[in-house]
Amino acid sequence: MKRKYYITTPIYYVNDIPHIGHSVTTVIADALARYHRKLGFEVFFLTGTDEHGAKVAQSAEKEGLTSQEFADKVSERFKETWKKLNISNDYFIRTTSIEHKKIVQQVIEKINNNKDIYKGKYEGLYCVGCEKFLTEKELENGKCPLHPNQEIEKQIEENYFFRLSKYIPSLIKLIKNNKTNYIFPQNKRNEILSKLTEGVEDVSISREKIKWGVEFPLDKNHTVYVWVDALINYYSATRFLKNKKDFWPADLHLIGKEILWFHTVIWPAMLLSADLPLPKKVYAHSFYTIDGQKMSKSLGNVISPIDLVDKYGVDGSRYLIASSFPQINDSDIGWDKLTEKYNADLANGLGNLISRVARLAQKEKIIVKNTKIEFDNAYDKSIRSQNIAECLFEVWNNPQWGIQAVNKKFNEEKIWEKSGKELNNSLEEIIEMILKISHHLYPFMPQTTEEIGTIFSPGETVRFPAKPLFPRLAK
Ligand SMILES: [Zn+2]
Repeated sequence: MKRKYYITTPIYYVNDIPHIGHSVTTVIADALARYHRKLGFEVFFLTGTDEHGAKVAQSAEKEGLTSQEFADKVSERFKETWKKLNISNDYFIRTTSIEHKKIVQQVIEKINNNKDIYKGKYEGLYCVGCEKFLTEKELENGKCPLHPNQEIEKQIEENYFFRLSKYIPSLIKLIKNNKTNYIFPQNKRNEILSKLTEGVEDVSISREKIKWGVEFPLDKNHTVYVWVDALINYYSATRFLKNKKDFWPADLHLIGKEILWFHTVIWPAMLLSADLPLPKKVYAHSFYTIDGQKMSKSLGNVISPIDLVDKYGVDGSRYLIASSFPQINDSDIGWDKLTEKYNADLANGLGNLISRVARLAQKEKIIVKNTKIEFDNAYDKSIRSQNIAECLFEVWNNPQWGIQAVNKKFNEEKIWEKSGKELNNSLEEIIEMILKISHHLYPFMPQTTEEIGTIFSPGETVRFPAKPLFPRLAK
């Protein structure tokens, strides 16, 4: 039996159009999926869109569309964007699908059978932007810190509640035990632990006033709270897709830090109540800042993945996104910085190396040897712990086979001044290193690996590429 690997991105809320923040999670998840496929795992890579809730209904109304039409339109934009970025997801889930809705209702019934749902009154401050209730403590100047331009609404409702508090001691125990801890990186784990020990209240999981949602199975006048509906997607896909049954629990939920609480507290508690296994790992990355500022529509500095691909190409964009992965802390990017990095690492680094070696090797009619290549240990370790920047750093800087080292070898040994057997040996050795580099780039830059494979194809003579892999860009 093949080993299985199940990785998910958050399902993106259709109120927003795709930006670089969505892309980073999706590109990294794609790299991890490709890496595991390469190792022979049977992989299930899931992404999709979250399509219910008040915000979607409001936006649809503004555009004169039905909620479903609006969701269809934005969902399609996400699909197109992922296609453009060469994302290899195995399935694209939509929460408005009938199959998903059925499973949501089943999970809620299971939780109810376990006596974990009760009716109560909810009074709170609601941020429509976040689609969640906030506490006084979380507000900044009376506004949601993530949505400073929106008013906070005071809402009083009769809702159905989930006994979240009942599961807090079990969650604390799981997190404190290193073997069962599922929250990464460490600083996020500490953040959650301290919040959990402060005390946690039960959460409302139904809405009476919001019509655009999954019908609440215990009361048809209510809909399921959009977050509960959304979280269940990770599980529902493994139920309604016939050949994915064995994939639950997920190996990794890759998420952004703004949704940490839902994924590491509410979701696991729901699973415990429904008697289902917990995901093995939740990794919450941080955000990009743009030239030192928060990325926001009002500042007009939002970077769209489509613009990125138009400028740097598919793999250029994937590389720039991955190498600046905001793994633990926020990571600052900007168009100038990206172009600089593209020119240094791709045009002058990788691209230049390939073209110099290919030119010389084609002239010398070098036949490429067939060698078995495996992932380097340090790289393996980094990628498996989501140390993405470190893992790419290895490809550029490994002293034995990294791009810098090979470029240096080419220059210092003045390969082009050699001749005969000596030249052949040097070129063969360098080509072997290039193929190793290419193998390690595959999860991040699959098209480039393919192109390098065409230039240096085992058993054949080297072919100089018709156009440069990464043309230099003006700033
Ligand atoms: Zn908000």
